[in-house]
Amino acid sequence: MEKIIIAIDGYSSCGKSTFAKAVAAKLGYIFIDTGAMYRAVTLYAMRHGIVDDPAALVAALPEVQIEFRFNPQTGRSDVYLNGENVETEIRRIDVSSRVSSVSSIPEVRAKLVAMQQQMGQHKGVVMDGRDIGTVVFPKAELKIFMTADPRVRAERRYRELQAKGEAVSLEEIERNVRERDRQDETRAVSPLRRADDAVLLDNSHMTVEEQMEWIDAQLRRFE
Ligand code: C5P
Repeated sequence: MEKIIIAIDGYSSCGKSTFAKAVAAKLGYIFIDTGAMYRAVTLYAMRHGIVDDPAALVAALPEVQIEFRFNPQTGRSDVYLNGENVETEIRRIDVSSRVSSVSSIPEVRAKLVAMQQQMGQHKGVVMDGRDIGTVVFPKAELKIFMTADPRVRAERRYRELQAKGEAVSLEEIERNVRERDRQDETRAVSPLRRADDAVLLDNSHMTVEEQMEWIDAQLRRFE
C-alpha cells in the first residue's frame, strides 16, 4: 500500500487520539496530535498572563517553539514547549477550558497549520484535530469524522482524569465538553465541520477492537 495521509477530525474527547494512535501503529505511520499543539500554545499564554490578550499572544508567537519528541518509555511522542516536556500539564482541565479561545486566533492557527503541513509532506501520517480534512490536508486520501454522544464522551474523560487523580466532577467535564463543541463549531476561522468527503465514525457504542475492524474495511480501497 502506498503511503497516504489519514485525516481524523471530530468532537473533543471522542477517542480520536486513541483511535489515531492505534491506526498509526498498525500502519507504521507517524501519529500527530494537533490538539496538543494548540494546548501547548494555550499553556504558554497562561504562564505569561496573556491568555485573555490575543494581541500580546500574537506578538509573542515567535517565542513559542513547539515540537514532538519520541518518548521510549511510553512508546509515543510527547509535546515540548520551548524545550520543556509539557505532555502532562497540557491535559489539565484549566488548559482544556482556555484552549478553544486561543485556537480561535487566526495567527495561532496559521502558525500551527504551517507546521502540520510540513510534518505531513512525506505522507505516512495519521493526524488528528478539528480542521485536518478541511484546511490542513484538504486532499488527504482518507478523511474520517469522529463523533460520539456528549454524555458518553464526558464519562470517558471523567474516568481518564480520575485515574490521574484529578478531582473534577462529571458535570463539570460534560459542561466543558459541550462548551468546547460549541466554540469549535461556531468560531469564524476553520470551524469544526465534517468535510464533504469524510467518512463518519460514531463510536458511542463501539469498542476499540470494533473500530479497528471498521478501519480495516476503510483501508481495503487503498490496497
Ligand atoms: O484534540 P483536543 O481536545 O486535545 O484539542 C484541544 C482543542 O484544540 C480543541 O477543543 C480545539 O479548540 C483546538 N484544536 C483546533 N484545531 C485542531 C486541533 C485542536 O482548533 N486541529
